[in-house]
Amino acid sequence: MPYAITQLCCTDASCVAACPVNCIHPTPDEPDFGTTDMLYVDPRTCIDCGACAEACPVDAVLPVETLTGPLADHPAINAEYFAGTEPAAPAEGSPLFHDWGPVRFDRVLPADFPRLDVAVVGSGPAGMYTVQDLLLHTTARVTLYDRLPVTGGLVRFGVAPDHADTKRIGDSFARYLDHHRLRLRLGTEVGRDVDAGELAARHDAVIYAVGAPTSRTLGVPGEDLAGHLPSTTVVGWYNGHPEIAADAVPLDTERVAAVGTGNVALDIARILAADPDRLAGSAIAPGALERLRASLVREVVLLGRRGPEHAAYTRGELHALLRRDDLEVVVDDHDPRVGEAIDAAAPGEHAALLQGVPRSSEVPAGPRRRVVLRFHAPIEALLGDERVTAVRAGGVDLPAGLVVRAIGHRGRPTAGLPYAEETGTIPHHAGRVDGRPGTYVVGWIKRGPGGGIGRNRRDAAETVASLIEDGKYGVIGARPRRGGLLRRLTSM
Ligand SMILES: Cc1cc2nc3c(=O)[nH]c(=O)nc-3n(C[C@H](O)[C@H](O)[C@H](O)COP(=O)(O)OP(=O)(O)OC[C@H]3O[C@@H](n4cnc5c(N)ncnc54)[C@H](O)[C@@H]3O)c2cc1C
Ligand code: SF4
Ligand code: SF4
Repeated sequence: MPYAITQLCCTDASCVAACPVNCIHPTPDEPDFGTTDMLYVDPRTCIDCGACAEACPVDAVLPVETLTGPLADHPAINAEYFAGTEPAAPAEGSPLFHDWGPVRFDRVLPADFPRLDVAVVGSGPAGMYTVQDLLLHTTARVTLYDRLPVTGGLVRFGVAPDHADTKRIGDSFARYLDHHRLRLRLGTEVGRDVDAGELAARHDAVIYAVGAPTSRTLGVPGEDLAGHLPSTTVVGWYNGHPEIAADAVPLDTERVAAVGTGNVALDIARILAADPDRLAGSAIAPGALERLRASLVREVVLLGRRGPEHAAYTRGELHALLRRDDLEVVVDDHDPRVGEAIDAAAPGEHAALLQGVPRSSEVPAGPRRRVVLRFHAPIEALLGDERVTAVRAGGVDLPAGLVVRAIGHRGRPTAGLPYAEETGTIPHHAGRVDGRPGTYVVGWIKRGPGGGIGRNRRDAAETVASLIEDGKYGVIGARPRRGGLLRRLTSM
């Protein structure tokens, strides 16, 4: 019985190297890598050895026979990826092992490589993959800064609390926090407690992994009304973010409109519509759970600007939502283009994912809370006096007492560093910040707010490779050490 990868996959590719028969694809060398929602196991060649499951940091690979309930579709999803292809050939001369080629030790440092003192700013996935790479592959001493009193970034305060397996990647990062070459400086914000110039003067290199912490705005009238929140507030609220109050999300309304159709919009809809008893025991903040128990919300409507063929959610996340028995999912078919696009979609096309999902014209609202997918509904205005009472979308006014925009994130400038306003990123070449020798970037502030946790692993490898090259050529690492900054921060 083969294994299959589930939607928890964060595409870090740890399993690819573990598989002895090359049956997990796309591999980092293949063109599809980075464009698919997840990786897939080819059931035709999997030998059921379980090595992938051991390697996976988020328990996303499971034996097919254990995949039931929301995960029951995944064997077919894995197999579908390989439809029409030949199984990847095992290496010549060995039926069971890759042809790894000649052994290459990319990260062997020359004997005269300087012992670097590196600051990493930000402890989300990008910062932690960077810390891991530096500690495992160099002799650097690392100081990890974060503005919050706890590490984790979006793994802790973004990933939905009912995605326990995904959050578990935080445990594998946490191993490095006790490393003898790592010092932690939590509650220290660059730009507030220390400036970029000061950090640069005190470390041989500084790597910024500060993410993209702000929500993009709608740019429509009524945006300032109470009852309109960015996804960052709602997501932070249910994850217990220390800067977001337990009463930050008003749930005294029957309908919530969530603007956007990405996985974050799906997370928000699922948490707000779930049976609270199913969330008890998850990582949800106790204050949020208490309020969800008293919530008046009956319906969460996801508003997509375009049709179902352009919906931004991934297949795995949608499938998991559709299989929930504590909530109902319906497609709003008031616009005839929606039903037409779904019915006309060929198998494998994005709109085809909604074939078989009940349509709003066919099913009256029942006793369960429901999530409604409404397409061709571009936002035109938020309506209300002081607090939002309705959203105008696609020419229709839809009553809603809470509107959450989940249309993507944006970076923000860090004083003392360059910033590209158009992309919301720090301009760089292979992780080296333009015009700032010894300063580097990684993660969402480097490449923009897209891609899952695992994507940051390769990104960190690129940035650390640039830093090592700069160390080899003497661009960094020749400065006298002074302890003033750390003494000052420690005494704050
Ligand atoms: C709501 C949400 C849910 C997600 N769910 C998933 C999922 O289920 N699976 C998945 O694979 N991917 C998921 N992702 C994507 C994933 O979280 C990102 O790929 C990843 O977090 C980006 O990493 P990062 O380190 O660049 O940023 P972040 O995780 O945002 O980390 C940035 C860190 O920098 C710190 N920081 C910021 N500014 C400063 C400063 N000036 N000084 C000091 N510290 C600072 C912050 O406190 C934070 O700890 C999700 C994203 C979001 C928004
Ligand atoms: S069970 Fe073994 S053969 Fe199958 S995908 Fe995992 S590592 Fe590869
Ligand atoms: S999370 Fe990583 S190790 Fe796990 S299945 Fe996905 S790519 Fe493989």
